Amino acid sequence: MNQIPLVDLKAAHEEVADEVRTGFERVLADTAFVGGEEVRRFEREYAEFGDVAHCVGVANGTDALELALRAVGVGAGDEVVLPANTFIATAGAVSRTGARPVLADCLPDGYLLDPQAALDAVGPATRAVVPVHLYGQCAEVTGLAGRLPGRVRVVEDAAQSQGATRDGRSPGSGGIAATSFYPGKNLGAYGDAGAVLTDDEELAGLVRAIANHGGVAKYRHDVPGFNSRLDGLQAVVLRAKLARLAGGNAARRAAAAHYDTLLADLAAAGRIVLPATAAGNIHVWHLYVVQVTGADRDDVVGKLNAEGIGAGVHYPAPVHLTPAYRHLGHTRGDFPNAEQAAERILSLPLYPQITPDQQQRVVDALADALRG
Ligand SMILES: *Cc1c(COP(=O)(O)O)cnc(C)c1O
Repeated sequence: MNQIPLVDLKAAHEEVADEVRTGFERVLADTAFVGGEEVRRFEREYAEFGDVAHCVGVANGTDALELALRAVGVGAGDEVVLPANTFIATAGAVSRTGARPVLADCLPDGYLLDPQAALDAVGPATRAVVPVHLYGQCAEVTGLAGRLPGRVRVVEDAAQSQGATRDGRSPGSGGIAATSFYPGKNLGAYGDAGAVLTDDEELAGLVRAIANHGGVAKYRHDVPGFNSRLDGLQAVVLRAKLARLAGGNAARRAAAAHYDTLLADLAAAGRIVLPATAAGNIHVWHLYVVQVTGADRDDVVGKLNAEGIGAGVHYPAPVHLTPAYRHLGHTRGDFPNAEQAAERILSLPLYPQITPDQQQRVVDALADALRG
């Protein structure tokens, strides 16, 4: 059967295969395996793309978030507010700083952190709030930051939003953001990689130091640190793919608009809810997520997968209902929007190279699956 994957990494590789091969040869010739010229170039190019002054390449997105949190002073005894509906790594990064994750509900449309719920979750121990730019569009940052007490910093989880803006503002601009270059992200490495993005030179320097055993000069350790650095080989891949990212994001937008058209009848019939884009957002469609309202979601996913269609669920359980965070003491009903989303959401295949024919097949299979 002709499969339609959720994400087509083979198609993405074909576009950069030659550049990656010659770039790898450069790195092999220089033996610049950790850091080095390719990493420096990538950091400069990504900072320019992402409209921030500084990009610090690190080992993965979870580390990037932990490093950003540590750089703004988050540590043991602090609380950090984050949405209940996110990839578990957002909570994991908070836990690793020694701080306590405090959850807040999402908005019912668009699944982004509800700014009022986040403000309501702020207490005397709160040191940071982490809006997650989920599925490729930015959560509210500027308005939220303006309403927080001065000691509370906003640290953005931009793992799914490379190239996205809200009211013309990029993640990390005027603050600090973390992103991930996990292979399936809009900008994906060939292994793990991530970055911290900020306009603040001091924060960038601190991140660079913590991620390099506590100092940027060899055998000088100014702060307690650990090892989280970007590899030269990954930087080669990321540079080649970054040159195509704006085009890839535009192709994702076109494909998302095409899904909207193809799915309009199912939405009008109340079988599904289409994704909503918040005002002021340039969405980069990391994922195209519909809500299944007219059938059992897991049943629909099973039927699509049986037809060779790589539909997925991002994510099947909100943070408070995963065993790892049972100790936070929440029960079902505490975050109703996040819980309802987890029961109904379904991600359809979406990648820059997806064809209208493939999208038609996805929609036909979805219509069949909803019919029962
Ligand atoms: C992918 C992702 C991360 C973690 O990134 P890794 O590179 O896998 O560590 C964090 N937050 C969100 C929202 C993500 O999607």
